[in-house]
Amino acid sequence: MNKTIIQVKDLHKKYGEFEAVKGISFDVLEGEIFGLLGPNGAGKSTTLEIIETLREKTSGEVWVDGLNLEESPNEIKKIIGVQLQTSGFYPSLTLTELIILFAGLYNEEVDPMSLLDKVNLRDKAKAKFKELSGGQKQRFSIATTLINKPKIIFLDEPTTGLDPQARRNLWDLIRDIRAHGTTVIITTHYMDEAEVLCDRVAIIDSGKIIALNTPDKLIDELVATGFEKPKEVKQANLEDVFINITGHTLREE
Ligand code: ADP
Ligand code: MG
Repeated sequence: MNKTIIQVKDLHKKYGEFEAVKGISFDVLEGEIFGLLGPNGAGKSTTLEIIETLREKTSGEVWVDGLNLEESPNEIKKIIGVQLQTSGFYPSLTLTELIILFAGLYNEEVDPMSLLDKVNLRDKAKAKFKELSGGQKQRFSIATTLINKPKIIFLDEPTTGLDPQARRNLWDLIRDIRAHGTTVIITTHYMDEAEVLCDRVAIIDSGKIIALNTPDKLIDELVATGFEKPKEVKQANLEDVFINITGHTLREE
């Protein structure tokens, strides 16, 4: 049994009178890919940003790798990697220049080429950020989360807007990062993605966790209630057709 690396207890967040997070509690285990799912406005990003020390909580307790959020926010910052909005990247700097810039901010020594290798962007080292495709931008922004060799990375909707090939490529990258021992917390609106990628998921709605388990157990629980799909399930879906005829090869050159 893996140890708990993140513990959230009775977390509340109010924006003025509006309560966006209404007392949620969950644990994330070391080395897992943990998914936060929920409709827009459910409170996913708010929850992540509180754990990332980027947003104040209203009440509740959070520990990250044994560090208390209120007592040791700076220590927490050192062991986590946060995916920034790609709009924050200087568009005219090359990937190498951006990595050196970020490494400087983190006060870290980093070899840009080996970092770019991790996300399969070595041949783009001299390309400007603005010249990358959507999938490459996402891969690069994930690379920047790894600069400080974090124990945990936070990915907020990393695959939104990507084509099926780029999405699958990102799944491989995320699995690879986890295989190297990094814990991953991810939000997504794609349930197929959560099903294949996440060890466990928490489903949040209107600021409350309404389900938390492995995808497999959640599906079994639903089936056990007598739930049946309205239509006969086919052996493939349209995405299978798409991938089958267009292949897995990434289309970005
Ligand atoms: P999610 O990421 O699940 O879509 P968010 O955490 O971004 O949800 O937002 C949760 C709720 O809090 C939403 O209703 C949103 O409008 C509101 N909210 C988020 N940030 C702010 C803010 N800075 N000020 C006021 N309301 C906010
Ligand atoms: Mg969000």
